[in-house]
Amino acid sequence: MHSIESLPLVLKQLNLPSIQLLWEEKQHAALQNNWAYGQYLNVLCNEELAARFQKRVQRYTKESKLPPGKTLATFDFKAAPSINPLQINALADHPDWIKNAENLVIFGPSGVGKTHLAAALGYRAIEHGMRVMFSSTTELVQKLELAKSQFKLPYILNRLSRIPLLILDDIGYVQKSSQETSVLFELIAHRYENTSMIITANQPFSEWNTIFPDDMMTVAAVDRIVHHANIIKIDDKSYRRAHASKKQQSLTQATT
Ligand code: ADP
Ligand code: MG
Repeated sequence: MHSIESLPLVLKQLNLPSIQLLWEEKQHAALQNNWAYGQYLNVLCNEELAARFQKRVQRYTKESKLPPGKTLATFDFKAAPSINPLQINALADHPDWIKNAENLVIFGPSGVGKTHLAAALGYRAIEHGMRVMFSSTTELVQKLELAKSQFKLPYILNRLSRIPLLILDDIGYVQKSSQETSVLFELIAHRYENTSMIITANQPFSEWNTIFPDDMMTVAAVDRIVHHANIIKIDDKSYRRAHASKKQQSLTQATT
C-alpha cells in the first residue's frame, strides 16, 4: 500500500495538475455527499480534462493569429440581411465540413463582414478542438515565396497541412507575379481534398485571373477550391461605412 503522502508527487509525475490542485477539496465533497470511489475519481478526471481543453483553446487561439473580438457573439445578423444565420450556425456548430476538407468562400464588397465571419468560424473551429491559422493572403504568399527561394516550400506546405483550417483573407489583393508557377496555386493544390480553407474575396471567380500567372492556372485553382465548397455571397451595405457615418453623426450632434 502506498502512503497518501506520495500522492502529490505521483500526480506531478503523471502530469495531472488539476487533480493535484483539487483532490483534497473534492475529497471533502465526496465525504459530505457520500460519493462512491468511482464517482470521486470521475469528478477529478473531468476537472483535468476540462482544464486541458481550456489550455488547448488558449494555445490554439494564440497560434491562430485570429483578429481579436471577431466572434459570432459580436456579429449582428440583423445588420447583414443577405447572410443566412442558419447556414452560418450550421457551419459553426457542425465542423464536419472541416473534417471533410471542404472549403468556404465568402464573397462581398469591402466592409460587409467577410473577415469578421471568417474569423468567427475560426474561433468556433478552435472550440471544436481544431487548429486554425488566419492570415492575409498577401502576407502568407510573401512567406511562401521566401520559403520557395530557400527551397523550403515543401517543408512549409507540409507543416501547414497539419492545420485543418486555414483562413486566407482577401485573396483578391494578391498580385500575380512574373513567376511561372504561383506559390498560392501550390498551396491550394497541396490542401485540395486534404485540409480546409476559408477564403474571403472582394471579386467573383471570373476576375481571379489577376491573381494567378495565367488563365489555365486560374481555372485549375478555382476548380480545386469549388470542388468541395460552400459559397456565401454578402451583398449588404458596408457595415464599416454605416457605422463610421453613425459615429460621425453623433460626433456632429455632440459638438453642435
Ligand atoms: P470585410 O472583410 O468584408 O471588408 P470586415 O469583416 O472587416 O469587412 O468588417 C468591417 C468592420 O465592421 C469590422 O470591424 C467588423 O467587425 C464590423 N462588422 C461587419 N459586419 C458586421 C456585423 N454584421 N455585425 C457586427 N460587426 C460587423
Ligand atoms: Mg476583410
